[in-house]
Amino acid sequence: MIDATHDAGLRSWVDSANGHPDFPIQNLPLGVFSPPGSDEPRVGVAIGDMVLDLSAAHAAGVFSGEAARAAEAASDGALNALFALGAGPRRALRARLSELLAEGGAEAERLRKALHRAADCAMRLPARIGDYTDFYVGIHHAANVGKLFRPDNPLLPNYKWVPIGYHGRASSVVPSGTPIRRPNGQRKRADEAAPSFGPCRNLDYELELGVWIGPGNALGEPIPVGEAAGHVAGYCLLNDWSARDIQAWEYQPLGPFLAKSFGSTVSPWVVTPEALAPFRAPQRPRPEGDPAPLPYLLDGADQREGALALELEVLLLTPGLREKGLAPHRLALSDARHMYWTAAQMVAHHASNGCNLAPGDLLGTGTISAPGKEGFGSLLETTQGGKRPIALASGEERRFLEDGDELILAARAEADGAVPIGFGECRGVVVGGGA
Ligand code: MN
Repeated sequence: MIDATHDAGLRSWVDSANGHPDFPIQNLPLGVFSPPGSDEPRVGVAIGDMVLDLSAAHAAGVFSGEAARAAEAASDGALNALFALGAGPRRALRARLSELLAEGGAEAERLRKALHRAADCAMRLPARIGDYTDFYVGIHHAANVGKLFRPDNPLLPNYKWVPIGYHGRASSVVPSGTPIRRPNGQRKRADEAAPSFGPCRNLDYELELGVWIGPGNALGEPIPVGEAAGHVAGYCLLNDWSARDIQAWEYQPLGPFLAKSFGSTVSPWVVTPEALAPFRAPQRPRPEGDPAPLPYLLDGADQREGALALELEVLLLTPGLREKGLAPHRLALSDARHMYWTAAQMVAHHASNGCNLAPGDLLGTGTISAPGKEGFGSLLETTQGGKRPIALASGEERRFLEDGDELILAARAEADGAVPIGFGECRGVVVGGGA
């Protein structure tokens, strides 16, 4: 639904918002921050280089009706209660924020007191995450990884029927900027007779989108695919750090466990479905010969506009690049349109057995790789499991991530007639293990 909040001519009295690559007034993502000198979590809105404190703005009396209901739901320093309200109040809040922050907004003087410089704030997780599930909907990633193990038959027979996923660990999801400690674990190389316990040797990243759940469903009551988009509160970037050697040894027969649960980084701003409305895209037609989704996963509107035209980028900043003042190395450029299943299909499938989703639950899409090697969303693919190291401008080589390496994910949405928006950064630096 495109409305006045998307007007490409709209400018903000917050100067840094105009022309901002991520947070122009057309975006207005929600997040949780602590202002300078405080540990208190507060819900905020990103506008240019600034953060608007939503509760402080509400205390100034600028919201009424549904927008006030949304602001009140955000008063406990987490987005769960606001997510639970669904699209109506969220949309009303967005419409009012757009008026308030637009050039000529009558309340500008009162709102200035509720603004903080983003650089002075600490960003936190946007919600209390009850459950985290990671899917596997990036079909090029699934095929590339499958090829490493099964060259003739990369995709397992269920892939085109089932949105594959596993239950991840919510407690170790961390906001951008949190250092990631190299995990210890059992790993066994092919030439070793027995496993040993020690630091991961094949530490990897995964380029993913995160999907924040809005209104949930009661246990035993599935979510029809045609209603599933209404259960999505927003999107973020997600780096599903992966210990490939630990994973290879532990994953059979029950799937990923300790190879994934030592840290998953999210970008802290929740970009709403409303902000992404101009960047909706049709789901790509399936290749000739692929089965149609079963009816419980197929909805006409979702097929017409359930995908996102969203460019995804991965950058690597190593100690060598940093010391020499060189730019980060681009590891991948991909696009969210390479998802074989939509977010709505993930939600509908997740709840199809009656499993209850709750506001603030997080879904990962799985690694979103583009078809060519410039678009591979993990080092497992880029270096062929470590066999083909990449050369960096600093003279360094990488098979997998080394201590001191920083991994940065970014997203950018562009469409004709719309002001581009971004997600902000999802970054994390690898630090040495403690043992
Ligand atoms: Mn993953």
